[in-house]
Amino acid sequence: MLIQVALPVPLYRLFDYRVADVLPPIGVRVKVPFGRQELIGIVANHVHPDDSDVPQDKLKSLICVIDDGPIFDEYFFKLARWLSSYYHYPLGDTMAVMLPTLIKAGADVSDEVWRYRAVAHADDGFVKGVLSKTAKKQHADFAVIRDNPNATKHTLRMLGVTERNLTLFVQKELIECHTAPNTPPLPAQVVQKPLTLNNEQRLALTQISQSIHDGCYQGILLNGVTGSGKTEVYLQAMEQVLAQGRQVLIMVPEIGLTPQSRERFSARFGANVVVLHSSLNDKERLSGWQACRQGQAQIIIATRSALFYLFANLGLIIIDEAHDTSFKQQDHLRYHACDVALYVGVLKQIPVVLGTATPSLEQIKLVRDGKLHECKLTKRAGGAIPPTFRLVDMRMGTQWQTDMTGESRDTELAHQTVQAVRETLGRGEQVLMFLNRRGYAPILLCGACGWQADCVRCSSHLTLHKNPFKKARHANEQYLYDYLKCHHCGYQVVTPKVCPSCYSPNLVHLGQGTGQLYERLHGIFANPQTVQTPYPIVQIDRDTVRGKGAWDRLYERVSTGEPMILVGTQMLAKGHHFPNVTLVVIVNADSGFLSPDFRSPEHTAQMIMQVAGRAGRAGRAGEVLIQTLNPDNPLLLDLIRHGYDKFAHDLLAERYGLGLPPYSHAVLVRADAHRLDVAKNAIIGAKNHLPQAHPFAVLAPIDAPMVKKNNRFHVQMLILAKERKVLHDVLAWWWQGVLALPSSRGVKMAIDIDPVGW
Ligand code: ADP
Ligand code: ZN
Ligand code: ZN
Repeated sequence: MLIQVALPVPLYRLFDYRVADVLPPIGVRVKVPFGRQELIGIVANHVHPDDSDVPQDKLKSLICVIDDGPIFDEYFFKLARWLSSYYHYPLGDTMAVMLPTLIKAGADVSDEVWRYRAVAHADDGFVKGVLSKTAKKQHADFAVIRDNPNATKHTLRMLGVTERNLTLFVQKELIECHTAPNTPPLPAQVVQKPLTLNNEQRLALTQISQSIHDGCYQGILLNGVTGSGKTEVYLQAMEQVLAQGRQVLIMVPEIGLTPQSRERFSARFGANVVVLHSSLNDKERLSGWQACRQGQAQIIIATRSALFYLFANLGLIIIDEAHDTSFKQQDHLRYHACDVALYVGVLKQIPVVLGTATPSLEQIKLVRDGKLHECKLTKRAGGAIPPTFRLVDMRMGTQWQTDMTGESRDTELAHQTVQAVRETLGRGEQVLMFLNRRGYAPILLCGACGWQADCVRCSSHLTLHKNPFKKARHANEQYLYDYLKCHHCGYQVVTPKVCPSCYSPNLVHLGQGTGQLYERLHGIFANPQTVQTPYPIVQIDRDTVRGKGAWDRLYERVSTGEPMILVGTQMLAKGHHFPNVTLVVIVNADSGFLSPDFRSPEHTAQMIMQVAGRAGRAGRAGEVLIQTLNPDNPLLLDLIRHGYDKFAHDLLAERYGLGLPPYSHAVLVRADAHRLDVAKNAIIGAKNHLPQAHPFAVLAPIDAPMVKKNNRFHVQMLILAKERKVLHDVLAWWWQGVLALPSSRGVKMAIDIDPVGW
């Protein structure tokens, strides 16, 4: 027999190899020659040499088998095959995306762990001789180890033994460590009293419990307004799963993985909680992967990629903020975590809960089609009152203010807004101001000749970043406090003093970013020289909140509840609980409704509701001010008068009328090349390669929203299809044909199934 190996190469096939003596089982990793390299792959199949399409004399032999026994089971292959065929991505590459780097590099994953036990001769007398009499904690810890022979480090940690003492005992030869086969962790325990659920929460929990206890798949949309207590429902469902000795996977958007959100899930249970996020190093990722596979991890809080992990005994998947677009992977294997989670739920026959206050239109459609069961939480839990909305017409005039250079500036804040902020602070409460634009100003231009600061590598403007509170003491420092930056490719230059085109010093910036808003607010509310009672202002965005602990410190400061203004981007919007915020200001609601992408009203509405949800979460009523230049915008009015559900319902009706997703299935083909005509040709080639009479609506070639990005040119093709099955049948052969076309040579071609934006 031969083995067929999945290798991490961009080809849509498996590779056949000869075996020296024993046939390695399916699911082990092997090292094989590939061209002039050696690659590590996974044995996916056995075939008879007669069935191989490689001629006998061309067949190579495998170099070595890496694992003692199979690591990857039928489940893994099923999932990989489904991903590969649904997203039209090569199988070997798919598997490569699914696995942590060190697994692909052949790291040892044998099922053994280090365990600790006291040495045989460590009786009381011996211990007294080694440990100091006064070191009470050391004695206590040693007693724990003696009473729990062969415990793992994790168990000992749970029992209160410190890492330091463990090392110390090994050094002093009081204990010895050895490897032993893995044993299951201590059963998870509830250490914090659950809340009494309200009726709606109880109905939702009953729905989830049903499939937990029947051991079957169910997709549930937990559609609950912000503050309705979705988390409590998750926690009580988790309790039931943990009591069965099974694992729970909680998926959160990348940006929502703050220590606080983590805390909410881990505080309730005495259990082994593993957190997996994108900034783990390879070793940490490997041990997380192992902990999931061996069952040591009981609660796994993770971003997208953990869906591909192997789990000893997964019993429930929860996706929090399930509408979030960060669940869609935007390169390589362009999967959507919600869709994959539902498929995993089917394979494992477990419930999958999608929780959100603002379900995506796709998710609402799934409910209508009977594919998701919807549970609604319409009221805020614990008696909190929903926020009220007020539109603020910016045309009625905004406040002007003299800035630090003595110039009069538009604050882009309406008088009404400033008044409301002042009153809120005066009552000793907090204000959250949301502006989804980092930096100081999005545009810098020359008032004399019209030159604009554009990125040299992208078709986009450079954003002005400047800190008016910090003066550069020498030229080098200007890079820190006054520079232009491209938010797409990272290109950065010092802000010029004169126009590079006509040498006029009359450079002006347009538009407002969070940096500038901070400065204006400082002038009105915080400047100790001009303001009677100054209030602190905290800026929260990717430029200001960096590094470990930055969030923690900020959070601590906000949690004091003292009156202050929080200014920030979407980093502020997601899932945080700031009990003393009673006023939320959405500084600019218009830009999102103006974008040409048909999805932007949906995304903008989700964003507005998310931010609004931060208002009045603890007992006090909250208010949301929405600044707009277009107070008659029917979409905006619909949203704030009738709420998100009605808004989404109306948008869906519109999509239905236009035949847009989710009422059709979209595929976006992206071509990027070092020249525009090359990319365009590739797309034209792809279009011509479609069968003569196809039932699709095809738009091609279309320029990408940003044609030039990091010196590459992007052209796209959009395919809309009524029938998913027909679409995928055509794609299966068409896409591989496209990749082989001469016009595709030298072009990066990518296919995006169910794209979330373009
Ligand atoms: P969501 O996740 O839906 O935005 P949270 O889970 O954050 O809502 O709940 C908001 C607040 O309501 C939290 O402070 C939570 O402790 C509280 N809460 C949730 N359920 C209940 C309940 N059944 N009774 C009392 N308070 C509750
Ligand atoms: Zn000029
Ligand atoms: Zn750029």
